[in-house]
Amino acid sequence: MTDATASAQPARVFSLARIEGALPWIALGLVGLLLPLLDDSYIGVIAQRAYIYWILSAGLNLVVGYAGQIAIGWVSMLTLGAYATASLTAGNATPPWHPYLALVAGGALGAVFGVVVGLPALRLRTFYFAMTTLGFATIVTQVALAWKSVTGGGVGTPGPVFPWPFEPGWGFYYFCFFLAALATWMTANIASSRFGRALVAIRDAEVAAEASGIAKPRLLVAVFLFAGALGGVAGGLFSSLQSYITPDAFTFEMSVLFFIAILIGGRGSILGPALGTIILTALPEFAAPLVQWSTFLYAALLLVIVLVIPGGIADLLDYRNRRPLEQHREIVARPELLSRVLDKRSERNAIALTGVSLHFGGVRAIDGLDLEIRSGEVHGLIGPNGSGKTTTLNVISGYYRPNAGQLKLNGADLPFDRPQARAGYRIARTFQTPRLVGGASVLENVMIGGMVDGSGSFAESMLSLPRHHRDEKRLKEAALLALATVGLEQLAPVRADRLQHSELRFMEIARALMLRPAFLLLDEPAAGLSAEEIRRLGALIKAISREGTGVLLVEHHADLIFDICDRVTVLNLGKTLAAGTPDEIRSHREVVSAYLGA
Ligand code: ADP
Ligand code: MG
Repeated sequence: MTDATASAQPARVFSLARIEGALPWIALGLVGLLLPLLDDSYIGVIAQRAYIYWILSAGLNLVVGYAGQIAIGWVSMLTLGAYATASLTAGNATPPWHPYLALVAGGALGAVFGVVVGLPALRLRTFYFAMTTLGFATIVTQVALAWKSVTGGGVGTPGPVFPWPFEPGWGFYYFCFFLAALATWMTANIASSRFGRALVAIRDAEVAAEASGIAKPRLLVAVFLFAGALGGVAGGLFSSLQSYITPDAFTFEMSVLFFIAILIGGRGSILGPALGTIILTALPEFAAPLVQWSTFLYAALLLVIVLVIPGGIADLLDYRNRRPLEQHREIVARPELLSRVLDKRSERNAIALTGVSLHFGGVRAIDGLDLEIRSGEVHGLIGPNGSGKTTTLNVISGYYRPNAGQLKLNGADLPFDRPQARAGYRIARTFQTPRLVGGASVLENVMIGGMVDGSGSFAESMLSLPRHHRDEKRLKEAALLALATVGLEQLAPVRADRLQHSELRFMEIARALMLRPAFLLLDEPAAGLSAEEIRRLGALIKAISREGTGVLLVEHHADLIFDICDRVTVLNLGKTLAAGTPDEIRSHREVVSAYLGA
């Protein structure tokens, strides 16, 4: 970004934050590297178990903590990886494999079944999905019991012994340590990429995620694949640590441990769940008489954390967001920056609705509506509550399929039922109730809006390759510029749930601007704003349209509508009551008597 005034301060704040963020990891890494100096093999085994559990939890964290999918039975990936690695190495069914190769196979098997188990999440609601993962864990254990020739059934099978350089003892310790570090690095890369932000958006603001063009199925499949692979690798290591595995080594308590470690760590954090896993692994060891009570302990710990610090360990560590914010903040939009945010559009575009009707059961939400939104104009849509304004906006942005009528963009049909495809047409929107990711920073919330403009793949982000960095740099610059435009750049590093309502409305506009929209649909953007803020909002919306964007403005504030709209449509009970220029509407007899007062 070239505008120093808009970028200098947040940029400095962020690089400082990065150094602060690295400190706990450096400390953990040092402890891990130096632990063998203690030469205490008991502590070594506990640490190995913690690393192995974390390798699984690191991937599961993306599924549970980031994407918000309740995958309780993820222990099944550990079971699969353990049996695959152990029985391939032992040569139970095939000629014996090299242990390292068998470990890779364990990871691959985990990846495949991660997707198989994950697929129902695309269709099922949360609790049903939780049950399918549990059910799968039970099936895997039953198969392990029954398939005696491969798994040894109830008698079990020996775990692999990894040869040099990771031979049993401290060699294996460092193997687990480095793989845990690698898993941490990869998940942290994903978490801080546009894919990580998209996962959290799916969790906390699914409709906003769709409107930003985030394709939930593709993204979730990638995450399940990754989490399954890590679970499988963890299983292979686990079978070696156990030296002998039987089906009852893979208990329900273990699955609960992984899940609860993430919850007490804090959703949307990497460090928190890592600490949670270490604590939960070590806890029963240091309180030996309590081992039988471990499930109870976990549950009690979870209850305490949920009640006392709902955000988990991560929240405790997030001291930066406890610093007070300035009390009297003003939102001073800077429309003059818009020319750099938006592509100047000279071509004339239009979205046209003809004869659109949509019924919800007996309610005719819209009933034969004609409407045209043209580029470079602000089209006001007004009417009493329940007159179909939001429904109209939802039809245009692809949430509803109307019962009748046509929707065209520049004469070509716009597909119905495809909200996540709208971003590709550069149609952006805001929501009547702001949809935000409360636990993410304002900057991250705005960056979500630019999802479709990234060019790097999931794998490139995971491995922190150049295209990922280019994407991040570009998205961050664009988001800071969008925030400066709406007047919120000072709040960029602040958690979004600390903002005032009016600030959230402007934040949503900044997110929508990330699409460089050809069309912008605003659902009551002035609701809850002060008179001065409404005036500034009006100037901003007007300026957006003057850059060539077509704006649909749903509003209740008559002054705002008549000040900035080029054309106005008045709805009543889903039908057009009047349409025309602001002057025509202002003098329309029925409209005046019904809404505007004498
Ligand atoms: P407005 O935004 O103008 O206040 P809406 O478009 O939200 O109005 O609603 C129009 C009508 O459709 C209302 O009667 C509302 O109750 C009904 N409606 C809107 N969405 C749904 C839905 N998903 N299911 C059933 N009825 C709905
Ligand atoms: Mg509405």
